[in-house]
Amino acid sequence: MCGIVGVSGAADAARLVFMGLYALQHRGQESVGISAVNDDGYARLSRRGGLAAEAFSDEDLDTLPGSLSLGHTRYSTAGGAGLVNSQPIVVSYREGDLGLVHNGNITNAGLLRTELVEEGALFQGTIDSEVIVHLIARSRCPSVEEQITEALSRLTGAFSVIITVGQTLYAARDPWGYRPLCLGRFPDGGWMAASESCALDLVGATFVRDIEPGEMIRIRGHELTSLKSIDSNAPRQHCIFELVYFTRPDSRVWGQSVDRARRAFGRQLAREQPAEADIVFSVPDSSNSAALGYAEESGIPYELGLIRNHYVGRTFIHPTQQGRDFRVRIKYNAVREVLEGQRVVVVDDSLVRGTTSMGLIRLIREAGAAEVHFRISSPPVRYPCFYGIDMPTREELIGARLTVEEIRQRLNVDSLGYLSLEGMVDAVSESGPFCHACFSGEYVAPLLDLEHGLEVPTTC
Ligand code: 5GP
Ligand code: MG
Repeated sequence: MCGIVGVSGAADAARLVFMGLYALQHRGQESVGISAVNDDGYARLSRRGGLAAEAFSDEDLDTLPGSLSLGHTRYSTAGGAGLVNSQPIVVSYREGDLGLVHNGNITNAGLLRTELVEEGALFQGTIDSEVIVHLIARSRCPSVEEQITEALSRLTGAFSVIITVGQTLYAARDPWGYRPLCLGRFPDGGWMAASESCALDLVGATFVRDIEPGEMIRIRGHELTSLKSIDSNAPRQHCIFELVYFTRPDSRVWGQSVDRARRAFGRQLAREQPAEADIVFSVPDSSNSAALGYAEESGIPYELGLIRNHYVGRTFIHPTQQGRDFRVRIKYNAVREVLEGQRVVVVDDSLVRGTTSMGLIRLIREAGAAEVHFRISSPPVRYPCFYGIDMPTREELIGARLTVEEIRQRLNVDSLGYLSLEGMVDAVSESGPFCHACFSGEYVAPLLDLEHGLEVPTTC
């Protein structure tokens, strides 16, 4: 995963980008980076480890002047941490400096990289996004636009990208449309592109629309042009896991309010997997909306049974298992006064490894719950994701190894119920078609590196 943002035609663009990164922090917590292009077309770059708020001071932002800027929050998969793999990538280019931020996972990056290395290309890190820069640089097309289009057309898999070349900003989505990217406008005419609309809200930009799958837009100052550019008949594959878990509930993706989508999942879950219980509560914060939907549909009162320590980030986001285990223990506590003697429905948005859930159920039982009915507002995760969500190998996925009954026993709950794939897709059908490969194993964009036995490169 990762969060990306770009601003054009607004004074002090790096500050606006920084604010946008604040709003996109949930998409990645390992590193942040901001580049800004000054009036002479030179890009300055600053990349730091950690959270946006800690990494950049007011003085740091003063060193990034200009009205064109890019930003990135990084969430790497294992092995790829380290600033060399963080973004923006900035290189000097024949038309002025080139900057790039990318969200998604390119499924033929390994093959392209091998080809490029054989032709003499030098790589700095292991990140898949680096191949895009090389492909642009090697294109023989006459215009920058065509160079970028040609480069992007060679990629398979998931890529939402924002690129600056000199004073011009380009933003594009892969033809399948796996990852979100939307467009907003400032009152005085500047533009912002961002992974999620919550970033636009924070800086007072108005949501205009999503960038379409396969579309590239070009922005020069205040002037925007849409270029239908990546020629492909690829079927749309919006990542449904963005709606299940990843996106913030106050964002809109694919014409859908994420809060409304999650409530619809919760209501459908209540219909499919009812429970005799006294209270419903969420595993805060990612399942709050789904648990509300479950409570609304079932008529069972909504309670706050678990309290989350807000000074701990996303536990799952830690790239090592050891790090995750420790962080689960410090992240949640149960409210005894709410749980004691009660038959409870606990709603979580997804069950991936079972690490979070196992610890939580123990807490809930120790706090005196009489019965625990665990409900998941998505189907069992059975397959790894190759399009940019940090879904581990099949061996680590509890839903791939065990049956629902075996998982129920392992978690020590009185009942366990998942939302069906059909119920999930139907609940949000107006935003599809969706990629649900992590639940169904149906991979639509070709997995070329995997088929060639190449190691899947570090992704974002
Ligand atoms: P598990 O209990 O399987 O260890 O983890 C499931 C929990 O992790 C759920 O509460 C869900 O909100 C969260 N989760 C699921 N997928 C992801 C992900 O890709 N990234 C992060 N940070 N959390 C996730
Ligand atoms: Mg969660």
